[in-house]
Amino acid sequence: MTVPTELTHDDALQTLRAHVTTHVALPGEPGYERCVPWNVAAAVTPAAVVLATTPEDVAGTVRFAAAHGFTVTVQATGHGAVGIGPRTILVQTSAMKHCTVDPRARTARVGAGARWQDVLDAATPHGLAPLCGSAPGVGVVGFLTGGGIGPLVRTVGASSDHVRGFEVVTGDGRLLRATPECNADLFWGLRGGKATLGIVTSVEIDLLPIAEFYGGALFFDGSDAAAVLRAWASWCVDLPETVNTSIAIQQLPPLPGVPEALAGRMTVAVRYTAVGDLAEGERLLAPMRAVASSLLDTVAVMAYAAIGAVHGDPVDPMPVTENQALLSSLPIEAVDALLAVAGPGSGSPQAIVELRMLGGALAREPRHRSAFCRRDAAFSLLTIGVAAPAIAATVVEHAGAVASAVAPWATGEQMPNFAPSYDPARPARVYTEDTLHWLAALADRYDPAGVLATGQVIRTVRG
Ligand SMILES: Cc1cc2nc3c(=O)[nH]c(=O)nc-3n(C[C@H](O)[C@H](O)[C@H](O)COP(=O)(O)OP(=O)(O)OC[C@H]3O[C@@H](n4cnc5c(N)ncnc54)[C@H](O)[C@@H]3O)c2cc1C
Repeated sequence: MTVPTELTHDDALQTLRAHVTTHVALPGEPGYERCVPWNVAAAVTPAAVVLATTPEDVAGTVRFAAAHGFTVTVQATGHGAVGIGPRTILVQTSAMKHCTVDPRARTARVGAGARWQDVLDAATPHGLAPLCGSAPGVGVVGFLTGGGIGPLVRTVGASSDHVRGFEVVTGDGRLLRATPECNADLFWGLRGGKATLGIVTSVEIDLLPIAEFYGGALFFDGSDAAAVLRAWASWCVDLPETVNTSIAIQQLPPLPGVPEALAGRMTVAVRYTAVGDLAEGERLLAPMRAVASSLLDTVAVMAYAAIGAVHGDPVDPMPVTENQALLSSLPIEAVDALLAVAGPGSGSPQAIVELRMLGGALAREPRHRSAFCRRDAAFSLLTIGVAAPAIAATVVEHAGAVASAVAPWATGEQMPNFAPSYDPARPARVYTEDTLHWLAALADRYDPAGVLATGQVIRTVRG
């Protein structure tokens, strides 16, 4: 981008405050620290932080950036942070966290800064379930613009399939509504395309009438990893769509919130949710309970409000590095390959190596198609490691070794929400060729000057 005025970037930034009605923080000023993401490993040093409170603040920032040669990106919680450099203005949405539930229509209207916990708090007293992911601390909009794979994914599909509409500021600074009937191309691209086309200011979602579920986790000692993983892989293939499960080899540090029985050692967690006939859900889990004696068994009938307890993801900010591989199948050979690289005695430095069973409703195209691809994978394999400076390189290298170990069963694809990065090879892993083409074409239309910038925006490649 060229700077279309005589002002330097520094001079121009001083005038940014005139374009918004909220707090703007330049480096070193109070409020600038709000750019620090949940994933503190991401280097985030924007030109300015706009603490947006209204859609107009977002639109004003985008228009200002276009006029002065900056790019703009957005952050709510920083759970999906990639680096942000000094030529980019950050729109920080966490103050826009309103959430209004309509219990009759079974919908919620949710601001761009809300976390899933905000929606759980507002919806579950009505017996209604928002389709969050494993961690209620994750942002609603960031999750939904990446598709959204939750603990009920096989039962309900991607959470973004349950979006009714968005309010969004597009890259050309317009505030638009996007629904299946209105700006349908934008509605298509915002569900899966992350911030490629615009900064969402609010979203309307369906709430499902699910008040409780049978679920939680069985934790086994690491020495039982081979028996548990092999049993899980053959057990899960026959499960009905009302049941969801994932399994994780965990090496959790002794931190607040980590049960003593699980800290500082290798354990295996079998996560489980069943809806509908809860007694049948209990019966279906019995074979896994019989594989070995568990260290801890938290599986019981739970209120939907407790859905975050199934995975028990970390809450406090930390430096993490992730990698994802989607698998087309999980034969015993794949399980053994995984155990060899990440199981007992492997020396794995990963905090979590997780397999989530997919399929079911996720594999079916929803009524309103979207830019979320990769519905047909059978399993997601995710490695999550602590990216502390002393071990970060080892963790990343080992994550590559895990990916190589399962390569014969991997599709070579990934999902937008997992392992975000600037890797130029990533878009082709996340999107089909058609989807990439259409997202780039829509970006030419809704962000012709290329104002929006994050690690994940899709643009036409110009020769
Ligand atoms: C502990 C943990 C558990 C997770 N569990 C799951 C899970 O179960 N299922 C799953 O699918 N994902 C999961 N994720 C991934 C998570 O959904 C993504 O990282 C998501 O992008 C986080 O959104 P955020 O707003 O919290 O993060 P942020 O870092 O604030 O945002 C990440 C990205 O989301 C997009 N975004 C955010 N706000 C907007 C906006 N207003 N308009 C347009 N785009 C926006 C942008 O591309 C932005 O760069 C998990 C991540 C963590 C760290």
